Amino acid sequence: MGSRSERRGVRRIAQGAGMALLAMILVAGTIQAIDPGDQLHQGQDLVDHATLAIDGVVDRVSAGPLERDPLYAEVRGLLHWVAEFDSTIAERYRLGSAEAILITDGIADTLATRLHDLLGQYVEAHPEEILDRGREALEIALVRMELPPGRLLGFHLLNMARLYGMQADTILSVPELALPGVKDGFLRHVWDLSQVYAQVHSDPAQNYFCRLSQEDWMASRIVCAHCGHRGVDYTNQMTGIREDSTEACIEAMDMTRTDPEVVLQRIDCRHWGHIFTATCPECGEEFKFSVPLPYYRKMQRALATGALETVPLPEDRYLHLGE
Ligand SMILES: [Zn+2]
Repeated sequence: MGSRSERRGVRRIAQGAGMALLAMILVAGTIQAIDPGDQLHQGQDLVDHATLAIDGVVDRVSAGPLERDPLYAEVRGLLHWVAEFDSTIAERYRLGSAEAILITDGIADTLATRLHDLLGQYVEAHPEEILDRGREALEIALVRMELPPGRLLGFHLLNMARLYGMQADTILSVPELALPGVKDGFLRHVWDLSQVYAQVHSDPAQNYFCRLSQEDWMASRIVCAHCGHRGVDYTNQMTGIREDSTEACIEAMDMTRTDPEVVLQRIDCRHWGHIFTATCPECGEEFKFSVPLPYYRKMQRALATGALETVPLPEDRYLHLGE
């Protein structure tokens, strides 16, 4: 990826049909040998903090017998806790900023994976669904709701699960419908969502495409710091790469070396990210933010080791950027 002398330059590369030209910034030589590409640039400690808290609950709950009513309360409690954690995030990052969204999305992804395992355990322990009038009422309520997107991201799952929970609460408030099938049905519906989530996050390439999709979804969720308008336009996007500056990494950048070990090391030494310029359509405010791309590297690694044979092209990427 360019000679040493090019690293500080900016150049433009063609990325293939249908994609915008991406400017590539190569920055190296000044960065310590840490692994920031796999981490958020800001607020990773908040994601880690939330992950620890979620895992504490999930470990405790999954060690128990996983009965319907307490599990329902625990899952609702987790959803509530994550929503409340916004106030902790807000102490450092403005909610609605790109930085805060990356943090909340990271936590949502954590919870999505944990719910997948936990609810999978429940469904396995209770293969018989409870099909009473309560469940029937829940089905009628949920069928009216919007379908989740095919590429289901963590924040979609959380939003849907919260809406399901609100529907369940409404039904449970009606005495003759406050039946076991409501909570059982809620747990199974969230389990279904978590399975869709797992399907589209099944390997590094899928995870990478989920990241691209997340970037698209961010545009509609970012709130302008200047005027409060929700939703921005991406007016420019660049791909950035940072190379570790350890001796071993500098040696691995010698492109003439093609032995598998060095190829893998070269991949590990590079950290990719997208750098967006966003513009508020309401007031014209312009700002930049960056999104780390850890799965781009993991995808390259999987290709290099043969774990992945081919990478399908993402279907709908960059369309909204304009060419
Ligand atoms: Zn604005």
